[in-house]
Amino acid sequence: MKQFTKNDAGFVCVNCGKAVSTLNYSSRDHCPNCLCSLHVDVLPGDRQNSCGGMLVPIDVTQNAKKGYIITYKCLKCGQTHNNKAAADDNFATILKVMNKTYNFESYKKK
Ligand SMILES: [Zn+2]
Ligand SMILES: [Zn+2]
Repeated sequence: MKQFTKNDAGFVCVNCGKAVSTLNYSSRDHCPNCLCSLHVDVLPGDRQNSCGGMLVPIDVTQNAKKGYIITYKCLKCGQTHNNKAAADDNFATILKVMNKTYNFESYKKK
C-alpha cells in the first residue's frame, strides 16, 4: 500500500494542530502557521529519515534570490538544516523567529 507517493501531501501539524493543506507549487514541508516540521527527510522530500523528531525554526535569514530561509533544528537529534519559506507562511511567525522573540519553550515540553 503506497500512501504517500506524492510528497506535497497535507498533514496535521504536530505542534499547533492546524490542518495543513497541500502547497501545489512545491512540496509542503512545514506548517505555515507555526513553521514547525518533522524530521522525516534526509534530502528534501525523500521521507527517508527515521528520526521523526520535531523540527523547530531557530533562525530566519533573507536571501536576495531565494527569499526567506528558515533554519531548523531537530529537537530529537539536534541536526540543523535550512529550508525555504513557503509563499503562504505566517509572516508574523517569520518575524518573531527573525527577531528571536518566538517562544520555543511551549513546544520543548513535548
Ligand atoms: Zn503548526
Ligand atoms: Zn532528527
